[in-house]
Amino acid sequence: MTFASLGLSPELVSAIDDRGYTEPTPVQLAAIPAVLAGRDVWACAQTGSGKTAAFALPLLQRLLGAHDEEGHRVRAVILVPTRELAAQVGESFRLLARSLQKPIKVASVYGGVSINPQMMGLRGGADFVVATPGRLLDLVDRNALRLGAVETLVLDEADRLIDLGFADELRAILERLPAQRQNLLFSATFPSDVEALALGMLRDPLRIDLPPAPALEPAIEQRSIRVDQAKRTPLLRHLIAECRWTRVLVFVATKYSTEHIAAKLRQHGIKAAALHGELSQATRAKALADFRNSQLQVLVATDIAARGIHIDKLPAVVNYDLPRSAVDYTHRIGRTGRAGEQGAAISFVSADAEPHFRLIEKRQEFRLPRETLPGFEPTEAATATATATGDANGGIKGKRRSKKDKLREATARAPEGDALPPLAPKINSIWKGRAPKR
Ligand code: AMP
Repeated sequence: MTFASLGLSPELVSAIDDRGYTEPTPVQLAAIPAVLAGRDVWACAQTGSGKTAAFALPLLQRLLGAHDEEGHRVRAVILVPTRELAAQVGESFRLLARSLQKPIKVASVYGGVSINPQMMGLRGGADFVVATPGRLLDLVDRNALRLGAVETLVLDEADRLIDLGFADELRAILERLPAQRQNLLFSATFPSDVEALALGMLRDPLRIDLPPAPALEPAIEQRSIRVDQAKRTPLLRHLIAECRWTRVLVFVATKYSTEHIAAKLRQHGIKAAALHGELSQATRAKALADFRNSQLQVLVATDIAARGIHIDKLPAVVNYDLPRSAVDYTHRIGRTGRAGEQGAAISFVSADAEPHFRLIEKRQEFRLPRETLPGFEPTEAATATATATGDANGGIKGKRRSKKDKLREATARAPEGDALPPLAPKINSIWKGRAPKR
């Protein structure tokens, strides 16, 4: 199968060639014809499998085929959960659109930076708006954006956007969009409760379900290493030297840990930086850019880097602290082994974190052997108060857990799947009767 046979015009196929894509990935094969035909799509496909182009290409094609009046009207809104992803997805659109004859305007808008340049950038409209939910609402409320002509809503990392943290904003956006529209939901994970809600907003969707999850993918070699909590930073340094990683993305549980561990690594001459949500957007963008272009060897991040972010040829991901849920595990390790490349994902498992990792393994339906490395043999026993969540993963003792933390913990404890028991009633009430009327 070729891109041309999927119904994309020669001009767009040539733009795809320029990007170096020779053939469609499975999710692109399945999604492109359906999106072109105007159908709703629900796509669950592994991390790094080309989901962005799976919706960007047919949306671009439809715009090329439209007999347009003057100017740019917002045809599609693409919602994403993080600022970094808004920049990245917007850039993917622009790279595909740049050699097309028709001038296509793609705006990336997100919080954490001044709104004025974004408002200026939207003068004269835009064809596609890639946005984080809060900033999109701000712009609409300031009349910088009109959503009346939107034909397509894309939720990228859809399960995250339907999650409690974004529920109110998502509801407000849905209220401002035309009821008659195409809805495209993409993610590598759809926990069962979210799946039900997601399906509730779709009409006769094409369901694309492309296992395996990256957990089962040979492209990502997964390992787990038993280690005392206090020995994790020396172990990390050991692995960086031993495995000769040119770059490694290290996930930790708290903002404080990102800074603390990056500082420790720098003391040992390793180029490392922190990435978390309380840094200024300029610092966040610089850290990610420096990591992408190999100015940094180690990026120590919270879960804001777990979703969707593409880093070319990233050889390794380390779970210094375990993720809170199996879903987060999937997204974190999916930063490596992308687009058919090989990668390594290593989880540090202290005695206290062992029950939690067992739970993740159970959800992911695998069991990794626990390794011990010479010089790092664990000596700690699990503490009596350890739970399968929170502090056992390196959370700061005594720090109050947020509502979201509690929900995630409940997720981790849920008996089956990745259901979100306390969350479901709230979301249900939000969505009740609000599925778009057609
Ligand atoms: P995504 O899952 O959209 O983040 O894409 C992951 C990576 O795969 C990105 O670097 C894309 O540029 C790349 N990619 C997307 N589609 C293709 C394709 N058909 N062939 C080769 N690489 C692709």
